[in-house]
Amino acid sequence: MDHKVLDGLLKPKSIAVIGASTKEGKIGYTVVKNLVESQYEGEVYPINPKADEILGFKAYPSVLDVPGDIDAAVVVIPAKYVPQATEECGKKGVKGLIVIASGFSEVGRKDLEEQVVAIAHQYGMRVLGPNIVGILSNSDKCNASFAPILPLPGKAALVSQSGALLIAMDTSTYTRRVGFDKLVSIGNMSDVNFGDMVEWLNANENTACISLYVEGLKDGRHFMEAARSASKPIIALKSGVSAHGAAAAASHTGSLAGSGKIYESAFEQAGVVQASDLNNLFDRTQVLSLQPPMKGDNMLIITNGGGVGVLATDAAERYGVPLRFAPEDVQAELKKHMPEFGSAKNPVDLTGMAGREWYQESTRYAFAHPWVDGLVILYCETAMTDPMNIAQGIYEAVQESGITDKPITVSFVGGEKSEAAIQWLVENGIPAYDAPDIAVNALSALHEYAESREQATTPFERFDDVDEAAARAVIAKVRAHHDRNMTEVESKQIFAAYGLPVANTKLATSEEEAVALAEEMGYPIVMKIMSPDILHKSDAGGVKVNIKDEAGLRAAYRTILENAKAYKVDADIHGVAIQEMAPWGTEVILGSVNDPTFGPTVMFGLGGIFVEILKDVTFRVAPVSANQSMKMLADIKGAPILAGARGEAPRDREALAEVLSRYSQMITELGDEIAESDANPVLVYEEGQGVTVVDARIILKKKEA
Ligand code: ADP
Ligand code: MG
Repeated sequence: MDHKVLDGLLKPKSIAVIGASTKEGKIGYTVVKNLVESQYEGEVYPINPKADEILGFKAYPSVLDVPGDIDAAVVVIPAKYVPQATEECGKKGVKGLIVIASGFSEVGRKDLEEQVVAIAHQYGMRVLGPNIVGILSNSDKCNASFAPILPLPGKAALVSQSGALLIAMDTSTYTRRVGFDKLVSIGNMSDVNFGDMVEWLNANENTACISLYVEGLKDGRHFMEAARSASKPIIALKSGVSAHGAAAAASHTGSLAGSGKIYESAFEQAGVVQASDLNNLFDRTQVLSLQPPMKGDNMLIITNGGGVGVLATDAAERYGVPLRFAPEDVQAELKKHMPEFGSAKNPVDLTGMAGREWYQESTRYAFAHPWVDGLVILYCETAMTDPMNIAQGIYEAVQESGITDKPITVSFVGGEKSEAAIQWLVENGIPAYDAPDIAVNALSALHEYAESREQATTPFERFDDVDEAAARAVIAKVRAHHDRNMTEVESKQIFAAYGLPVANTKLATSEEEAVALAEEMGYPIVMKIMSPDILHKSDAGGVKVNIKDEAGLRAAYRTILENAKAYKVDADIHGVAIQEMAPWGTEVILGSVNDPTFGPTVMFGLGGIFVEILKDVTFRVAPVSANQSMKMLADIKGAPILAGARGEAPRDREALAEVLSRYSQMITELGDEIAESDANPVLVYEEGQGVTVVDARIILKKKEA
């Protein structure tokens, strides 16, 4: 993407306001007034055929009448006039449009939106919006929006799909003490989307942390690529994760919000930290814009009160960074800065007697100690101590330690004096909060960031011993013959081409052939109906297991065909599959769907009631490395069953992880053909004994005529 073009849009040196108004209260007036009040230093050109001047700026009938160059055009006219204005902007050489106007895809007029983008692209212009609030930037002294004021200055940038939320967040940056350089309203994302914004902000010198409010991504893969390549922390609050929420979001922005579970995984896979709610987005944005990632698991808590210490300990476990006791040398040193009845374990309790000196000395020592990966300092206001004095002690300790590559967060619980101390700390680059669990949550965000970042930047190692051409040949044959539903025999040919361990399966088209195949394979065998019209074979009485001899086989052959006819009279029957009988193993299921936002997505879970009733499954955007697959196996609640619960031998998780990874490669590489697929069940044996795929199913995509 051309960043220069987006520079014109996001850092404009001159702005035309198309639809500028002389009437107070109109958006077209507010935008011009906001440019004045933010002390915008570039040129401002109000466009209004009926006005001579607006707020001291000479007005022009059209952008084509403006004497100078125009970087960005803010568009606040009714939707139906926007295409023509876009045409004029193109002719004028405008670089980008900030389309505040609404009345597009959010009300069913996607056509109008597409028309505007098509015209803009003809002239090399980019389009932000439509249906947005505008853009705000402290470093450019530019409030090209109808939000009230520039946000509290800082190093974060917020990109919001909801305009109302952006306005609400704007003013609350002051009360919450979270500083932003930029707020960008992205609205319908007709052209500029989250991925573009991440790329641009990552290259922008005034941005330290990219904060996103997401209802639905338009191009999930592009976003993930942009996030993976970014060197700055990204945090996202995704709304619409509940079924009802998703419906609300869809009607709200006209974009399709995918399933919350897939979003969660996709963000983690791309190294994007997640926020649980609006408060959490603020708190975590603050910490991510002020502190480095937490690169290990050792969190040390120093407190002057047992109560907040326990609350913080609970929070540490809740947020995935459970506390460990500090090593002996750390304990011995910290003991020097507390009374006899204090505790140097973890949390380190300096007791209510702790003043500035103890805080400062223990903070300096602990922060510099190599065992400590992240530090949380808690303080409860007491009558004997002055919060500001303590805050200054903490700040000095951090300076004196000389450490800049590990994080610290602080919580002060108290009244106005504590409030002032919190504010002072934040202004001096130390994230500080009014509750202990929030300080712990903030540090855990830096831990999540370091962890997911490592995952996100590890490339997928493709299996080279696969035969994509063979797989595609099978697909072509199926397409020529019977359209979309592949039988188990056909599906297994694709699985085998990708090196997946399928149970030996052969198709018999007559009873005699069945007998011959079984002789060759050796009893006991399994027999199954093969028909593209019968996807659930057992439901049709189409599966017979553990057939021990020829007599049993002949009887089963007839029964299976009779059952199939009874189930579906006109079923297209290919024959009966003869299959080796696999020994019993732990049943698991692999599945794939083509997510509208992220494309091929892989699912894993334990078979039987675990998947059907408990829905104990986990998703990832495909492909996943064997390493990530191992994490998927550990993700589900039933994970202990694979690990070997209650005296059972552990299952061959390594082999299963490789199968999952190969499967994810298969659905990705054949993603243009495969709509959905599953392997149900896959039998997993003891460690070293591998896995066997006993049933496989692939449904091809509908082909457009
Ligand atoms: P479907 O899911 O279409 O009903 P499956 O092929 O999964 O049919 O077979 C149904 C069940 O039969 C499986 O869940 C499994 O328990 C058992 N089964 C199928 N194939 C084999 C096999 N080759 N070895 C052992 N058991 C099998
Ligand atoms: Mg099955």
